[in-house]
Amino acid sequence: MDGGWGFLIGLLGAVWLLSSGHGEQQPPETAAQRCFCQVSGYLDDCTCDVETIDRFNNYRLFPRLQKLLESDYFRYYKVNLKRPCPFWNDISQCGRRDCAVKPCQSDEVPDGIKSASYKYSEEANNLIEECEQAERLGAVDESLSEETQKAVLQWTKHDDSSDNFCEADDIQSPDAEYVDLLLNPERYTGYKGPDAWKIWNVIYEENCFKPQAIKRPLNPLASGQGKISENTFYSWLEGLCVEKRAFYRLISGLHASINVHLSARYLLQETWLEKKWGHNITEFQQRFDGILTEGEGPRRLKNLYFLYLIELRALSKVLPFFERPDFQLFTGNKIQDEENKMLLLEILHEIKSFPLHFDENSFFAGDKKEAHKLKEDFRLHFRNISRIMDCVGCFKCRLWGKLQTQGLGTALKVLFSEKLIANMPESGPSYEFHLTRQEIVSLFNAFGRISTSVKELENFRNLLQSIH
Ligand code: FAD
Repeated sequence: MDGGWGFLIGLLGAVWLLSSGHGEQQPPETAAQRCFCQVSGYLDDCTCDVETIDRFNNYRLFPRLQKLLESDYFRYYKVNLKRPCPFWNDISQCGRRDCAVKPCQSDEVPDGIKSASYKYSEEANNLIEECEQAERLGAVDESLSEETQKAVLQWTKHDDSSDNFCEADDIQSPDAEYVDLLLNPERYTGYKGPDAWKIWNVIYEENCFKPQAIKRPLNPLASGQGKISENTFYSWLEGLCVEKRAFYRLISGLHASINVHLSARYLLQETWLEKKWGHNITEFQQRFDGILTEGEGPRRLKNLYFLYLIELRALSKVLPFFERPDFQLFTGNKIQDEENKMLLLEILHEIKSFPLHFDENSFFAGDKKEAHKLKEDFRLHFRNISRIMDCVGCFKCRLWGKLQTQGLGTALKVLFSEKLIANMPESGPSYEFHLTRQEIVSLFNAFGRISTSVKELENFRNLLQSIH
């Protein structure tokens, strides 16, 4: 990895020399270059370059993924937005209309989705029917077939959490409601200032494997207090093992993605008749321009690509789970469900064909004991982050924050279960690895968000070029 960082630092140095005029006299940078000049070429920790991802995502993946996410199976997400914040009491709820979430009326959600969150596969249906029957007959557990008992036990264990990276919302709670994600899009809400900073701050400060002595120069409120220079911060980052470094970059990538979305779907105009949403170039530049952010913006965009690759890799690894013949995207509409499964498999095969992910030996592949410890560390930090989402004072931001952390948590669960998935039986119950409908919906929607961000970067690049 040292070689990889050395290469990157060398590369960035070369870019800096060229772009800052320390070499030959160069024409001044355009606004587009100032956001994107460093966001090109190879990404550290991955054997992949940004331009290849752009082409692959924007033209081959993005359109198909959008179609899939518009289907009934993926558009309805059950979420409990009323869980109290477990860390502090003084949450000021954002009163803006754009922060509101409109839950579904009960007749809007297809019965197949409502009837049981488990009912997404034949396997699940059969098991549940057997269990229900056994219950009706007053049978004790022993009356279930040995195979069924084993599967139910395994599933309960999985759903119970030891393998889950997120604090699962209690979707059986009366407070949990279905939300139509298409009617509640992630966009600018106006949630900002100390409340939003506090959330980001806690996420980074508490959860990014930092030694106490190192404080990230993050919170604009805490100017001068406990800060270290950017150089110290990045040399600390370099000193971490590849997975811990990855953790910080995943969170930073998620943060960047949210901020790309709010810049791309900004409230541009509001009249009493309608609201106009669209790209706000100034907002984007303030967050990502290399000069305005003293080099931080382009780094954050690189983290977004890194997050993209991690989720892409998880999707490529989870293919055998979805490929099993008895897996269904169950909504009760047989024809639609089959078509959706075909589209989902097409997307996953496309992803599998993408050649450049990571050096297989470098991620999550240390010796067994170390890998187990790392998995546990990751899981605990990640569960913490998902609980912090209950403290977000804007319901729309909370909805998408929860969905994206659950999706990323599911991607990590997949990556830490690579071997189990590779060895799972081609049909019949899978005892070792299991995904709930909630996890599936969040995994694909979270990736859909990052894929949309990558596409939006192309739109911003074109817009910035057109104004200069
Ligand atoms: P912030 O984005 O609040 O960042 C705070 C500080 O973190 C910055 O000063 C900088 O030092 C550092 N920082 C910024 N970006 C990164 C990065 N990528 N990596 C590392 N460090 C970084 N707003 C909406 O309009 N719509 C939404 O859907 C939405 N969803 C949100 C979801 C969550 C979970 C949270 C916590 C906030 C959400 N927000 C949303 C608010 C939004 O993310 C910003 O917090 C807000 O716009 C204020 O931005 P800011 O420029 O003050 O800096």
